[in-house]
Amino acid sequence: MSWGYSKENGPACWHESYPIANGERQSPIAIQHKSAKFDPALKSLSIRYDASAAKSIVNNGHSFNVVFDDSGDKCVLKGGPVEGIYKLKQFHIHWGSCEGQGSEHTVDGVKYDAELHLVHWNTKYGNIDEAVKHPDGLAVVGVFLKVGSPCPGLQKVVDALSSIIHKGKEANFTNFDPTGLLPASLDYWTYLGSLTTPPLLECVIWIVLKEPVTVSKEQINKIRCLCFNKENEPQCTMVDNWRPCQPLKTREVRASFQ
Ligand SMILES: [Zn+2]
Repeated sequence: MSWGYSKENGPACWHESYPIANGERQSPIAIQHKSAKFDPALKSLSIRYDASAAKSIVNNGHSFNVVFDDSGDKCVLKGGPVEGIYKLKQFHIHWGSCEGQGSEHTVDGVKYDAELHLVHWNTKYGNIDEAVKHPDGLAVVGVFLKVGSPCPGLQKVVDALSSIIHKGKEANFTNFDPTGLLPASLDYWTYLGSLTTPPLLECVIWIVLKEPVTVSKEQINKIRCLCFNKENEPQCTMVDNWRPCQPLKTREVRASFQ
C-alpha cells in the first residue's frame, strides 16, 4: 500500500517504508514563541515572483500542486536564513476536515486551519532532484491560513480546483502571481527540517511566517472538495492531509523578529 493519510497508511506508518521518519531533523515541529531565539544576524527575506512562470495545477493524490517554470530566474527567494539563490518550483496546501486543524507546524500549541508551502530549490545544485539530496537543498516558506476574510490572491487557485478533483488530473494554470498569498509581514521563524511527506528527506531550511493569511469559509470548503482517489475509484475526500509535529531533538528555532 502506498503512503497516505488514513489509519492504514498515514504518518504513524511512514517509518516502515521510510525509516528517516524517525530521524534527527524531521518536520513539522511545534514552534514555541518563547523558546525561539531572536537572531539579529538573520537577514530579511527577499522574495520576487512573476506571474508568467505559473504553468499548471495538478492533483497528486496527497494535495494539489501549482507548478512553476523554473528554467529561468522569474521566481526567486534569497536572504533570510539562506545563502545563495533559491527558485520556486511549486506550492501546495495542507488542510483539515474542519476548523481548528489542518496546519502542520503549530505555534504555542495552536493548529491553524491550513498551511501553504512554497517550495524553492537551491540553484547551486542545478535542479530540484539533485537539491533534495543536500541538507540545504530546499527552502520552504510556510504560511498559516485561518478562516476569516477571503484571500483575493487565492481565488484563481480555488476556481481551478473543479477541473482537478481526482488524483492524476492536471490542468493548465498560467498568469498567476503567488505574491498574493503572502502576508504583509515577512517576519519568520527558521529551523532545519525535512519534507513533511515521504520520502521525508532532511533537505529543508524551513521559513515559517509569523503572520497568518485569512481565507474565507467558502474558499477552504472548495479545497475540501478535492479527492484522494482517482476518478474510477471509491470516493475519498481529500482532508486532513497534514503530518503531526515531530520531536525537535537538538535543534533550535530562530526568530527574525523580537
Ligand atoms: Zn507541504
